[in-house]
Amino acid sequence: MNNAIIEVDGLVKRYGKFTAVNGIHFKVREGEVFGLLGPNGAGKTTTMEMIEGLRRPDEGRALVAGFDTKKDLKKVKEIIGVQLQSTSLFDLLHVHEIIRMYASFYPSAVPIEPLLDDMILREKMNERVKNLSGGQKQRLAIALALVNDPKVVFLDEPTTGLDPQARRTLWDIVLRLKERGKTVVLSTHYMEEAHVLCDRICLMDKGQIVALDTPEQLVRSLQSDSAIEFRLPEWVRDDKAREQEVLTLVQSLPDVKQVDQRKDTFVLYTDHLQNALTAFIQQTAEQNIRISDLQTRTATLEDVFIHMTGRSLREE
Ligand code: ATP
Repeated sequence: MNNAIIEVDGLVKRYGKFTAVNGIHFKVREGEVFGLLGPNGAGKTTTMEMIEGLRRPDEGRALVAGFDTKKDLKKVKEIIGVQLQSTSLFDLLHVHEIIRMYASFYPSAVPIEPLLDDMILREKMNERVKNLSGGQKQRLAIALALVNDPKVVFLDEPTTGLDPQARRTLWDIVLRLKERGKTVVLSTHYMEEAHVLCDRICLMDKGQIVALDTPEQLVRSLQSDSAIEFRLPEWVRDDKAREQEVLTLVQSLPDVKQVDQRKDTFVLYTDHLQNALTAFIQQTAEQNIRISDLQTRTATLEDVFIHMTGRSLREE
């Protein structure tokens, strides 16, 4: 990859005997929105913080614009902007004060009022930080990450805990950063967010990379674009032999490429939804199998994650 602005090469981080990040490699292209997607504890924050130079890797190295985060941290800091968690903001300062304070840390800073406009915070510039909503605090945290006009911006779960509207406002902000040529590295455990925002997604689980590609290619890797979901009535679920019969039947249906069973829900993957669904309904009726909660949907990144790991992104 010629235009890589970040290179992660065999990063490992251990906490005592526990390995939080276990030898990962990837490159981030200049100007892309690169997502780290995974459940809680996957190692996303640890990975980002090693690239930012905030945590020291036990093995491997990370380069930002060619500078090693262990050896050239000062140079790296000139290039990157890091969104701090809102809890670490100074509650009693006014919005414009905290931005000016951050700007004073750097030899040069962007003009503050356009930055406030971009983050939709102009009306709040004289407000104390503690009076801001969750979404406004997150936008302020991003504004602080942008004061030094960084080439690379790190956003660690920027929308966690926000309501849907505040989340969408933040998505627009991230897309605008990309339009302006910034490279954005974003961690999230929301697959919709990763799908909407990211050019490429690094799926992480238990400190390792399970897949890395564009959202479209990741979903395509399932080789099925649709899913049929259903459940069995409770009395069948308790009858393991009957449940096995159902599993065998759905596995042999025409155009069903793969079947996953997640707790009491069966998921059938297909590229020919109509054929598979028709056969499914015919054969379950013939075999007198009662089903409930039947639905069809498009395959998602969540399906990719489950297929690769056997676990859901939402599991704790
Ligand atoms: P989340 O979505 O919950 O933030 P994450 O994918 O960002 O998760 P990390 O915060 O990187 O995950 O944590 C990875 C693992 O390392 C977790 O099991 C976490 O408990 C552990 N961990 C993180 N920091 C420390 C630390 N300072 N000491 C011990 N263990 C830690």
